[in-house]
Order: sequence, then structure tokens, then C-alpha cells
Amino acid sequence: MSRPGIRFEVLKECPHTRARAGLLHTAHGVIETPVFMPVGTQGSVKGLTQRMLERELGVRILLANTYHLFVRPGHELIARMGGLHRFLGWPRAILTDSGGFQVFSLSALRSISDDGVVFRSHLDGAEHRFTPESALEVQQALGSDIRMVLDECTEYPASHEHARRSMERTVGWARRGLGRLREAVFPIVQGSMYRDLRRECAQRLVELDADGYAIGGLSVGEPRTVSLEMVEATEDLLPRERPRYCMGVGMLEELGEYVARGVDMMDCVLPTRNARNGYLFTTRGRVIIKHQRYREDPRPLDEQCACPTCAQYSRSYLRHLFLSGEILFSTLATCHNVWTYLDRMRRIRQAIMFGNLPNLLSSFSSQRVDEE
Ligand SMILES: [Zn+2]
Repeated sequence: MSRPGIRFEVLKECPHTRARAGLLHTAHGVIETPVFMPVGTQGSVKGLTQRMLERELGVRILLANTYHLFVRPGHELIARMGGLHRFLGWPRAILTDSGGFQVFSLSALRSISDDGVVFRSHLDGAEHRFTPESALEVQQALGSDIRMVLDECTEYPASHEHARRSMERTVGWARRGLGRLREAVFPIVQGSMYRDLRRECAQRLVELDADGYAIGGLSVGEPRTVSLEMVEATEDLLPRERPRYCMGVGMLEELGEYVARGVDMMDCVLPTRNARNGYLFTTRGRVIIKHQRYREDPRPLDEQCACPTCAQYSRSYLRHLFLSGEILFSTLATCHNVWTYLDRMRRIRQAIMFGNLPNLLSSFSSQRVDEE
């Protein structure tokens, strides 16, 4: 198992926005930032093979969920199988989350204290405990390249008083976690939807001098403009030379908005989950493939898309696969949606490098949500 350790280089800063283009060096390759990371919840991006992700889509970093891998098959088994990279057959970088979000959203929570959380697995009801130290030990056993400190994901809405207590706990956990393991470990900025708490949390986490910083607790039901405001509230406090990872947010049309606010890394289940449900993102808006209008449509999903699905298959065929419940539909649709997200990020990065990000962002905002 290789040693974690990352190095981040800012190559170019946008003169008009807070966006940056950079390189994130890991033991499993170099990642161009800003980057969108496909989500491999159970150690698999549903519908795609690792070879497709690597060779056809050019993915350099995947996200895997600590909680899911912990409850099944278990981090110890994965460590015995040579670590997550070998277990998955994935040669490139992997980021693992802290487990916090799933503990709070999926499991039956037993108790939470300053020490940690006791929860019951959503699979078999078995009782487990995560502490800031143990959540990092699990990620160490998995051997991921970038790791997150256990955080308390505050429910929304929360009172200021409750959000403060929760934020204080997250800061205390970050201090303990980083005291144990430091390399490539990101603490997570919380503070619910309160600007003052977000700023205080960021300030206190920056004192810990971590290798990178995550912004969490967003996409929990708040209006989308508020999520962006919470990123804006903290960005100027985070060190310029460290990567910032905004967790679990990102409609296609929002990627540029987050990047323009100084975010370097993002992940979201939308492109993969929506693909399986027949919702496809295109440069001309969203295609809902089950609609009758695509029944005899010989065009690819997106005439401007260079993905393997669009190179070979018509909307008519994809609609047929979807309505027939064919497994191939998930593969082809996920391939297209992930490609579309990655391609959007590549174009955003290129615009930062050329200094014309605002023009690109305004061309995105004039696009329709639904295809004509
Ligand atoms: Zn395509």
C-alpha cells in the first residue's frame, strides 16, 4: 500500500472570479483541477467498469464512501485484499469521505457525544462506533489517497445555538483527528447556513494547517443560492495554496458557479443516479429519455458530445433499452452523463487558463434546462 501524501500547485488564478486552475499530485497520479469526482459509493460507479472510467472517460480520481465500505465488506477485509486500489482494480487516485454524512443520514443513530457517534448499520442493525481517530484508521486501512476527518453533519434547518454546538464538535473532532493522522487529511467546514459560524469554523480549522479543506453540510435541503453563499462566506479564509473540496453539490449548471467561488474539487451523485433514472444532461438541456418524442429519434443524445455513447447509439435505441429495463441502458447513460460533467469541468479549466471564465459562465447560464 502506498503512502498517502499530496501536493497542490495553483497554476493560474482567474482575474475576474475566485477560480483557480491547478494540479493535485497524489501517489496515484496527477489530477487537473478544478475536478469533478464520480461517486463510487460501494467501490463501484454503478454501471461502469474501471476500465471505462480510466480509459474512455479519463477519470483521474474517484470518491468512495467510508461508511458503506466499513459496514460491507469491512475495511479489514479490504486491507487484507491489498487495500482499496487493488481490491477495486483501480490504479488512479481515490478520495474517501469521513463516513459522517451517511452515519447521520442512513444509519439508525444511537448516540452522539463529544467522543464520537454510536450507530446501527442500515444493513443488519449491528452496532458500531466512529470516533475521529477510528474513522481515519478505517480510511488508512482502505488506503485512500485523500481522507476526511469525521464531522457532524448538522440537519437543516437548525437553530443558531444548535448549529454552533454542532460546529464546535466538528472542530474538536478535527483537532483530534489531525493529531493522530495528518497526511492528506482534510477537515470539514460546517456551521449550517450561518455565515458567522461558517467563518468561525473555517478560521479555527485553518489553524490546524491541514493539507486541504472540505466544505460540508451543503445540499441538505437548503435553497441553492444559500449553498453558494456559504461557500462564499468561507473561501477568503481558506489558504490559497491548499485545495478546497465542496462536498456533494453540483447540478451540471452549477459546477462553474462553485469553481468561480474558489472550489477546486466537487462530487455529486446526480450524473450517475439521474442517468439510471433516464435523465440525461446535454449541452442543449435535459433529455428525459422515456418521452414519446424520442421514439423514432435517430440522433445521438447530444450532437456536440464526443462520448462513446453518443458516438454509437441513437436516442431511439436508448429509449428502447430504458423502457425494456435493459442493464445496458444504465451503462450507456451513465457513461454519457459522467462524460458531460467531466467535459464541462475541462472547459471550465481551460477558460480559467485562458482568462475568459466569465464568458463561458454566461454562455452556460443562457442554456435551457430542458431540451427543445
Ligand atoms: Zn454523450
